[in-house]
Amino acid sequence: MTSNSAESVNALSLQERKYPVTKLMDYFVELQRRWFFERRNDADKWTHSLSKWAQSRTTRKMAKSRAWKVTGIDEYHYNIDDGGRRCVVDLSNRTCECRKWQVSGLPCEHAILVCRFKKQRDCSHLAMDYYTRVFVVSTYLEPINPASNEFEWVEPKNHVPLLPPVMEKRQAGRPLYYGCLVIFV
Ligand SMILES: [Zn+2]
Repeated sequence: MTSNSAESVNALSLQERKYPVTKLMDYFVELQRRWFFERRNDADKWTHSLSKWAQSRTTRKMAKSRAWKVTGIDEYHYNIDDGGRRCVVDLSNRTCECRKWQVSGLPCEHAILVCRFKKQRDCSHLAMDYYTRVFVVSTYLEPINPASNEFEWVEPKNHVPLLPPVMEKRQAGRPLYYGCLVIFV
């Protein structure tokens, strides 16, 4: 999963990776700011208690389980016949024998069917908090402020220029870059 994320960012910044490192950082900060702003605004418009993605998954599961049969065992346990296999949903421990609920944190088709059987219109209380709108909004709540203008920067007096190593041969997948870094001591 980490590798996939890294590859996505690599593909996204194909051109920008050729920039000097300070410009590259500017690009990533700007990108993060745009993503946070858009996602925060998008989440503010949602009317359901679950995130848009989780709500669409739940709706799809609800449609899939429409014709399945449910019978109660006791207050917290329900037996579901989904046409191919039998599953027991345990509401007290938030588990289902199909294990989808435990693995994903979103209620499976069986748990959603129990919800409907109990005449509950909304099954969002069965999902983990990570799937709620409030959680998504809080994830993107912090603003990412832009850096001040370069002419406003205060340069310390005691810095030592650090020259980059001489690179005569380009490394695989890396641009050949000559520049000057500055370290502060
Ligand atoms: Zn299940």
